[in-house]
Amino acid sequence: MKKSSIIIFFAVFEIIAILLFITLNDIFYLFNFTYIGACLSIGLYLYNVDSKYSKYARNFIQLAIGLYMLVYLGIISRENMMIEGFWYYLFLGVFEAAVIHYLVAKILGPFLFGRGWCGYACWTAMILDLLPYKTPNKNLDHERKNFGFIRYILFIASLIGVGLLFMMNVPNLSTVMFYLFIAGNIVYYTVGIILAYALKDNRAFCKYICPTTVFLKIGARYSLLKVKYKRENCISCNKCYRVCPMDVDICNNDKNKKNGTECILCLSCAKECGNDALFL
Ligand code: SF4
Ligand code: SF4
Ligand code: SF4
Repeated sequence: MKKSSIIIFFAVFEIIAILLFITLNDIFYLFNFTYIGACLSIGLYLYNVDSKYSKYARNFIQLAIGLYMLVYLGIISRENMMIEGFWYYLFLGVFEAAVIHYLVAKILGPFLFGRGWCGYACWTAMILDLLPYKTPNKNLDHERKNFGFIRYILFIASLIGVGLLFMMNVPNLSTVMFYLFIAGNIVYYTVGIILAYALKDNRAFCKYICPTTVFLKIGARYSLLKVKYKRENCISCNKCYRVCPMDVDICNNDKNKKNGTECILCLSCAKECGNDALFL
């Protein structure tokens, strides 16, 4: 990635920070989006600067943003930033917290930066990416399972579940949402880790279970930022497919929807390609 692209990236976050700060008159948004933009920019810079740093650059970004969101926003500030938190604030008619987070990172943002959230900021993947099965395609015999329907069931269940809490007038709903956030994360981590070991695939949870992908894939399909493929440089060595954590055969899908809906922009493929055939 060019230095100018990193500066543009930071500028986009800064514009969002300033706009929300002015519109909502809350300095938190200035701090929040400046911090996230800075972490991303520093990480992307490290990724480019030297191979000894680039190996850990994405982990740095994931931990810096993921821990901030999980520990500071979720646990200390008691904001439920998971999908049920999004429904909760939406039903309350409040344009803050999870609603803004979902709009920026998971609904509108993907039209610009695809599933970059999944590659760099998600606090679930921050842990899953530390497990041993980073590259499920190593032997080229890895097959995607047909479990993707689970995400739609969970997506609808989360919507109905939060709707029922409102209909039943459950008291202390904000406290209930906080405990749902804690319980939801424990379940996500447990299921994610078990699946990663069972299917030998760190990202199995992302591929089959995560309900957030229902939102993410819509914008990501039309994302401006995508991995680009220069066919004339390619020697069909398949190295890029072998290292892809999301099973994207980029050489045959650079123009197809899979390049948007599945790719998490981790750039492992571009790093692996010795022929400069892949780039952002
Ligand atoms: S698919 Fe879900 S769990 Fe995986 S990185 Fe994206 S948001 Fe996180
Ligand atoms: S790693 Fe590069 S050269 Fe090899 S198949 Fe992929 S794009 Fe082509
Ligand atoms: S296609 Fe490349 S950038 Fe996209 S997920 Fe696969 S390895 Fe990462």
